[in-house]
Amino acid sequence: MFRRINRRRFLQTSLAATAGLGVSAIRASASNSENNVEAIVIGSGFGGAVASLRLAQAGIETIVLERGRRWVISDAGDTFCTYEKPDGRSTWLSPTTVVFNQVPIDVYTGLLDIKIGNGVNVYRGAGVGGGSLVYNGVTYQPTRENFYKAFPRSIDYDELDRIYYPRVRSILKPSPIPDDILQTKYYLAARTFLEQAAKANLKVSKLDINIDWDIVRQEITGQKVPSAIIGQVYYGMNSGAKNSLDRNYLSMAEATGKAKILPLHVVTEIEELNPRRFQIVCNQINEQGTVVAQKTFTCRYLFLAAGSIGTTELLLRAKYNGKLRRLNDNVGMFWGTNGDAVGAVITAGQTNPTQGGPAVGVIEDFDNPIAPLVIEQLPFPIVPEGIYAALSQGITLPEGKLTYNTSTQSADLFWPKDSENNQKIAQAYLSTYQRLNQANNTTLAQALDFSSTAHPLGGAVVGSVCNSYMRARGYPNLFIVDGAFIPGSTACTNPSFTIAALAERCMDNFLNKGRNMKDEDMEL
Ligand SMILES: Cc1cc2nc3c(=O)[nH]c(=O)nc-3n(C[C@H](O)[C@H](O)[C@H](O)COP(=O)(O)OP(=O)(O)OC[C@H]3O[C@@H](n4cnc5c(N)ncnc54)[C@H](O)[C@@H]3O)c2cc1C
Repeated sequence: MFRRINRRRFLQTSLAATAGLGVSAIRASASNSENNVEAIVIGSGFGGAVASLRLAQAGIETIVLERGRRWVISDAGDTFCTYEKPDGRSTWLSPTTVVFNQVPIDVYTGLLDIKIGNGVNVYRGAGVGGGSLVYNGVTYQPTRENFYKAFPRSIDYDELDRIYYPRVRSILKPSPIPDDILQTKYYLAARTFLEQAAKANLKVSKLDINIDWDIVRQEITGQKVPSAIIGQVYYGMNSGAKNSLDRNYLSMAEATGKAKILPLHVVTEIEELNPRRFQIVCNQINEQGTVVAQKTFTCRYLFLAAGSIGTTELLLRAKYNGKLRRLNDNVGMFWGTNGDAVGAVITAGQTNPTQGGPAVGVIEDFDNPIAPLVIEQLPFPIVPEGIYAALSQGITLPEGKLTYNTSTQSADLFWPKDSENNQKIAQAYLSTYQRLNQANNTTLAQALDFSSTAHPLGGAVVGSVCNSYMRARGYPNLFIVDGAFIPGSTACTNPSFTIAALAERCMDNFLNKGRNMKDEDMEL
């Protein structure tokens, strides 16, 4: 479904440019400035947005360094490009699109980035709001039982359930699709999925989605440009229906006057200056990815939120270059895909005229005798009439890893896609699809596609690199507040809700209990 793109050579050149590696000519002409602040957050996705707001509300001067640009929804409804007419806005610094069909585009600081790995490719968002700009809005809390299959007991699920998931929910305000919208022609594929799951006696329910359904109604009546109703999700949503983080957590942080977001700032190096101070080097780029200035910041508290891949790469580089010497050898380890696999179900009936989204329902097969799993129907633009696409997620073991490649000065990703556990998970998914298919006379269009994930997790995980409150071992003032903290799976759910809830828990602990903690006092 997600096509593999061979653009390694291009990436090496362009990433080297944006990472500021081997670009001495640009460096020579770049200006250099020094900024000292109390706290720096690197990345503005789920972990970064939560950290920024809570720091700013506590009165702490905070700078947020984000590699991507800011996206403002225009009244004309043309902020983002569409699947039918993709351009540079779709993709992060690439000469072609990287999802669905490979189309030539202008090189631009667009939304969707790909990390090509050995065993799996990873999709991730770039821009102020991170993954929330490209995501389906699924806001999904794991069950207690599943949670402890993926997380250690040092994280109290009941506390998350009581305090931190509700805290995130109070800001994002996700809700299930209202029936009047579900019954429109745009959501035929979603209705088909819900009906077929029920017919197969599978437990199926509506998901909470981080979207403004009133704006979706305006799409239906023609007051807003069609976006959600025609499944335009992964290149952004022009109607403004998606509640991306720039419109809640991040704007709230900026409104305090204490947090400043600097878009188009690519962090290249982090370094400990002394046990209580860090130096951060970044390249300011223009929208075409050219470095226009190099900047250096220092801070007392450093929050890494560049996503599983981005944060782990920064840590690996710092460790290799001797800039964070006390990081342990587990950096890069315990990485996983959340079990992502895409399937396409051929039905006997119709599924179009459109694949309304961004998402609607989920099959929960937690009692599957092989392994617990979920299946969510999602809109995919390349799905033809009579077919709907679905994403399975399970509890993968964190068997993957990122290692530092000294020649490219970036991280190499390895995922053992055929490991025993991954084969077991694949069998579990197939057995649930078989139940669906037998009850409905449907079939899978092709083998399940495990070749890519949109849910990279791990690399600086709880219990090995961090304590349970996201503090890096050996560095009491360094925090890993994003997906890098999570050992490979959010327990049969999409990860953003759990990332945000864990970040809320971290910030509570930091602000109320542990601002001046010593390493020897850290609970692990
Ligand atoms: C197409 C798609 C659909 C998805 N749908 C869902 C969904 O419906 N529900 C769900 O829960 N999850 C979904 N996800 C996954 C979700 O987006 C991620 O799990 C989540 O965004 C991860 O949060 P994070 O804080 O770890 O990092 P991110 O949200 O990835 O944020 C990291 C940020 O850091 C920035 N950054 C990276 N490197 C640097 C650097 N060197 N310097 C400065 N900035 C940097 C990036 O540009 C980015 O903005 C989806 C993902 C994709 C790609």
